Amino acid sequence: MTQAARSGGTGEMDQLVQIQARQATSSDLAQSVCSHEDAGPMPRRQTRRLEVRWGSRCVAIGGASPVAVQSMTNTDTADIDATAEQVADLAAAGSELVRITVNTLEAARAVPAIRERLDARQQNVPLIGDFHYNGHRLLTQVPDCARALSKYRINPGNVGAGARRDDNFAQLIEIACRYEKPIRVGVNWGSLDQDLLALLMDANSRLPQPQEAAAVLREALVRSAIDSANRAVELGLPPNRICLSAKVSGVQDLVAVYRELAQRCDYPLHLGLTEAGMGSKGIVSSTAALAILLQQGIGDTIRVSLTPDPGGSRTREVQVAQEILQSLGLRAFMPLVAACPGCGRTTSTFFQELAAKIQAYLSAQMPVWRVRFPGVETMKVAVMGCVVNGPGESRHADIGISLPGTGESPVAPVYIDGQHAVTLKGEGIAEQFQALVDQYVQRRYAPAGSGASPMPGHELI
Ligand code: SF4
Repeated sequence: MTQAARSGGTGEMDQLVQIQARQATSSDLAQSVCSHEDAGPMPRRQTRRLEVRWGSRCVAIGGASPVAVQSMTNTDTADIDATAEQVADLAAAGSELVRITVNTLEAARAVPAIRERLDARQQNVPLIGDFHYNGHRLLTQVPDCARALSKYRINPGNVGAGARRDDNFAQLIEIACRYEKPIRVGVNWGSLDQDLLALLMDANSRLPQPQEAAAVLREALVRSAIDSANRAVELGLPPNRICLSAKVSGVQDLVAVYRELAQRCDYPLHLGLTEAGMGSKGIVSSTAALAILLQQGIGDTIRVSLTPDPGGSRTREVQVAQEILQSLGLRAFMPLVAACPGCGRTTSTFFQELAAKIQAYLSAQMPVWRVRFPGVETMKVAVMGCVVNGPGESRHADIGISLPGTGESPVAPVYIDGQHAVTLKGEGIAEQFQALVDQYVQRRYAPAGSGASPMPGHELI
């Protein structure tokens, strides 16, 4: 800490802020001279564009569309009330597609009623039916289910064995063609086509230098997905109605499998680490795997498969998926609050409380702000614990505050659009800063001519 800051006083603090601003400007210049390449993900892989529709709603997957977020219910689909409620919750949280299990006749019969419930609430999120073993029968026996779903997920490892597998798969594709529905060929290593795997293992064992079993398993996953998709095309399904997934539970295996899929076909890809697990383990594993692939331009829709805590909300997986995409700079859903981790320079919990308060405030405002202030989801807010990194970080945010650290004078400089705008002091710093954020949103994001004005009692600075 400099002598100026230690001696306290608003004048000295402003001086320090100015010195740090000058230092940061020189450092920016040096950085721009040294920079050799642009930051950002690699160009997106070029794929066909698949459209998933319900009513006026169309969610595009692939073909340079934004990476779509999807999720899956964990209710008994036969329970119409519970499933409709959870689908609505997931959609409200930002899930652009919601998958539901269709495993029994009761579940298939419930699907049209679930769709009706959602439509009655003006919730037109497309529903995806997840089928294993008996999908061909259920979709034939309950045509209204086939119509109410917007997409079918078919696992080629679970459609039957031997000749029955081909017949059942052909029946599913015929139904998809008849109702003009897209499909996902969703391979999973827990239910991989065992005949194909045995064939590839035998062929591998005859090679002069056989590959490791894990490599053959990955090849079987890739081959199962692509061969099944190509078979669907042969049966008459247009190629732009197909996307692929090949899920495994290991990060490195997932990356290897999807890189291979990306090279060998142009179907859009659904990314997801299967059985990712609970809590931070599930979040970290999913993030690690998906971030590597998305950074390389691979992936057109994602699902983060989290095991919820008992009684925990299913919507957590939607929030994590959005945060992955936003952290990578691929999409924006919610203003970001950057907060420092805190250290011995700030021993009070004030800045943590302010960061949490601002985050909660932004979340609460977003349903209205998203409509009234287009682009507000890209806003960056910084809440920092002291003047060491605070002013620098605040300058890089749209609006940022540096709270006083231990022993620092009780003032908090606020930066707006990279400029020191005001220094807050005294009681009520949190309320004053929240009011500044409000004013900033209205000034920066209100569409021209919308008539949006500062909140009563607050003036723009
Ligand atoms: S900004 Fe200050 S309080 Fe926060 S981590 Fe850095 S030095 Fe510690």
